[in-house]
Parts: sequence; C-alpha cells; structure tokens
Amino acid sequence: MITLSKRWKDLFWGCTAACAVLIILSLLTRLILLFALGLLAGIVVCVMATAKLRCPECGKVLIQEALKARLEGEITCPKCDQTYTLK
Ligand SMILES: [Zn+2]
Repeated sequence: MITLSKRWKDLFWGCTAACAVLIILSLLTRLILLFALGLLAGIVVCVMATAKLRCPECGKVLIQEALKARLEGEITCPKCDQTYTLK
C-alpha cells in the first residue's frame, strides 16, 4: 500500500486551490473587463447624445435642462430663452 506523506497532500491541495483561484480570478477579470467596456460604451453614447442636444439657435448644450425635465417635456434654453419640446 502506498501512503502519501502529508507534505505531498498539502502541495497537491495547494496547487488545486491555486488553480481554482486563478480560474475564478480570470472569470472575475473578464467580468470586470466586460463591465468596464459596457460602462465605456454607455459613457460614449451619453457624450454623443449630450453633444447632439444643443440649442439650434445659440448652440448651448441643454443636457442639464433636459435632465431637470427628466428627458421629456418642455425645456427652455437659459441663454436665448427659446423653448423646446423633448420627445
Ligand atoms: Zn439657445
């Protein structure tokens, strides 16, 4: 009968645990990467939408007014007092 020394067992379980930790870490980093990419895409879309939401009369960015009106309803340009309806 072959008996395994305790040290061998410790090494074996240590390696197994390290492998498991590595796999979990790689999964987590992948998730974090995906999350970061999603966040980045969201920011880019927001910035593009913000750049588009300008007063046609004076060119002032109206995102603050739009957010105050919860992105729908009427907003007034603070620079030239022109009123717009958001859809
Ligand atoms: Zn304006």
